[in-house]
Amino acid sequence: MIRAKLRKRLVDGTMKMRSLYDDERMKMTMPQACYYCGSTHKLSVDHLISKIRSGPDESDNLVWACLSCNSSKRGQDMLAWMERKGKFPPLLLLRRYIKIVARYCESRGLMDTQLDRLDETDMPFDVRRLPTKFPPLDELELWIYPAEAVS
Ligand SMILES: [Zn+2]
Repeated sequence: MIRAKLRKRLVDGTMKMRSLYDDERMKMTMPQACYYCGSTHKLSVDHLISKIRSGPDESDNLVWACLSCNSSKRGQDMLAWMERKGKFPPLLLLRRYIKIVARYCESRGLMDTQLDRLDETDMPFDVRRLPTKFPPLDELELWIYPAEAVS
């Protein structure tokens, strides 16, 4: 019911999706760790939406990734890559991804376009991979905390 109310308010414009400010602030205050596995070793900067797929070269789209995840993901769409690994993205990572997708679609006037009418060939992500079903609550992760912090 909360989700239905939220959706209605987003659609009728009485509520707007928040900016990436909170996500960026969290990136600066959280311990540096791979956004995908929590490792703190051999970190590099990864484009959440791959640069090779024309993902934006902006800080919102840059996340920490360990060497292993970065080389495994390469230019793949994050959702496709995680799906192949059998993992559901942590919610805060998914939120960041969705906000970047929404911003991209909004800036190109695509928000009201039906999925079957979208030409995704030149989009930097596969919008059809956006999850419509979620794992049970006890399996959802809010965030992948650094491996050293887990007791
Ligand atoms: Zn990793």
